[in-house]
Amino acid sequence: MTPASSFQGRVARYDVLVPPPADGSTRGRVGRLHLPHGVVETPQFMPVGTNATVKALDPDEIATTGASIILANTYHLYLRPGHERIQRLGGLHRFMAWDGPILTDSGGFQVVSLGDLRVVDEDGVTFRSHLDGSVHRFTPEHAIAVQEALGSDVAVAFDQPVRPSSPREVVADATARTHRWAERSLDAHQRADQALFGIVQGGLDPELRAGSTRFIAGLPFDGICIGGLAGDETPDQRNEALDVAVPLLAGDPRPRYLMGLGSPADLLDAVHRGVDLFDSVLPARVARNATLWVPGGKLNLRNTRYLDDPEPVQADCPCALCRRFSRAYLAHLFRAQELLAYRLATIHNLTFTLDFMARIRRALGAGTLAADLLELRQRAGRLSGREVADKSA
Ligand SMILES: [Zn+2]
Repeated sequence: MTPASSFQGRVARYDVLVPPPADGSTRGRVGRLHLPHGVVETPQFMPVGTNATVKALDPDEIATTGASIILANTYHLYLRPGHERIQRLGGLHRFMAWDGPILTDSGGFQVVSLGDLRVVDEDGVTFRSHLDGSVHRFTPEHAIAVQEALGSDVAVAFDQPVRPSSPREVVADATARTHRWAERSLDAHQRADQALFGIVQGGLDPELRAGSTRFIAGLPFDGICIGGLAGDETPDQRNEALDVAVPLLAGDPRPRYLMGLGSPADLLDAVHRGVDLFDSVLPARVARNATLWVPGGKLNLRNTRYLDDPEPVQADCPCALCRRFSRAYLAHLFRAQELLAYRLATIHNLTFTLDFMARIRRALGAGTLAADLLELRQRAGRLSGREVADKSA
């Protein structure tokens, strides 16, 4: 198939295979992102391996869920076990024995959200480790150096995220600094086998969001991250921000990545608005809390009614849980706090999420996404990420 558009960066190539239809019924598109460790079909969801592990799963199990790329957290790996140690041990791929593509975030979000003390100045951020209270400092140059040591396929520029609901002057200040830090991140980045994505900020303010999109898109990054969402905004507010940012990127051949979004309903909405890549801890986190995603909703395996239920969690699911075990068995494992519960539930929720993305790709490829939206929304259930998180808290 001849791509509709193709972006060739230094190490990454992004081909749009099925562009959005001319009738404007969706901005969704099908693409293929070529990275040093493999090819990623988009739209795609990246499971999160915070501490160089997708919690409870080994790399073979990650692959069986359908995952083709994972995200690892720069902040966590910098603090423990340390990026220099991982580099000495052969880099992150070898360290965690995952041969596929890895994207590392910049650490900006964790520095701001997890660090106790955090003092932002023009040069960088000083923060306290959430592990032992020790004081550390990230600058754009340092965040890039850490990611170069880890050796991910895709590094991300250091940014200053703020809550979407922050006052306008706070968002404006952080967005302007993010732009200066984006240029410094580009100047600092040297690794020839690693792509670099920039981050758009701008909160929920249309003018700031549009200005940030134009600024970041004007720099020679390999992809565009849409940051500062998947926070405390409503789905409608998020959609409005995407309706500002994505049309400004309509002629841009690079991949678009919305950071931190993970519920199936939210993923569908964002794909429909033209986003290609996602990551979130959500499917795995709710799985460890005994919430299993199934077509049309979710099952809470802590409910006593499942203790006598011989059916699989989802009859047509090909995952390691559903092929062999009953709801009754999983409900028992959770009550007994057996480790197998966390592994099987995580495998199922990631399989469900990645299968959902594959269904979206097929609908886009067939040109039927707009017509299939209702059916896909029903499969996703109506829960947004915040609702899922609140109810499972
Ligand atoms: Zn399953």
